[in-house]
Amino acid sequence: MSEPLALSGLPWPVELRTHPRARRLRLALDEPRGLLRLTVPRRVSRGAALDWARRQAAWVEAQLARIEPAEPLVAGARIPFDGAELLLSWDERAPRTPLLTECTLSCGGPSDRFGDRIARWLRDEARRRLVEETRILSARHGINDAPVSVGDAGSRWGSCSVSGAIRYNWRLLLAPPAVRAYVVAHEVAHRLHMNHGPAFHALQAELYDGDIAAARSELRRIGSRLKRVARG
Ligand SMILES: [Zn+2]
Repeated sequence: MSEPLALSGLPWPVELRTHPRARRLRLALDEPRGLLRLTVPRRVSRGAALDWARRQAAWVEAQLARIEPAEPLVAGARIPFDGAELLLSWDERAPRTPLLTECTLSCGGPSDRFGDRIARWLRDEARRRLVEETRILSARHGINDAPVSVGDAGSRWGSCSVSGAIRYNWRLLLAPPAVRAYVVAHEVAHRLHMNHGPAFHALQAELYDGDIAAARSELRRIGSRLKRVARG
């Protein structure tokens, strides 16, 4: 068994286990750990097994949709937010621009566009916070400021381009602050090391004030739920 691998197109990392008596390749969801377990017969190469796993993306999505249905942004819904829960509320007389109070995000305006207004607000808020958190962390460690953007890219929570631009998934706003801070530390560390070598890991540990393994497994555990918010 080795470190779980993130494969493009698959929402959860894949954990390979070679099984001497297995007759065929098999993929199973390990829901509590947020992992896909790939059982590989001895005669099948690692590369062939991973190729096969990549082709199961539609099957995996279908399984996930069954255990965790999409969570559309509708009035009355409760969504994860910054480590807590946020109630989405629509009030005819309220302004169109969403307003965040302690545990409610509310807005008025036409009810049929409610979800769009909330989605736009969440994305803007994610950008605002992630830009700020990246700037503060970089400045504290004397690392040059990076251009930061947010998107909703497949299975990745963050990426850092060769030019140093950082892109995050806006859904990190829905995650607990400590989990988000881990992704920020990871991407800021890539500003100096464009690999996952020992120097990168040392810098990441210096940038993150907490247990990296715990943050990573927490993100893996909650990741699929976060990706179901604002869908459907
Ligand atoms: Zn990385």
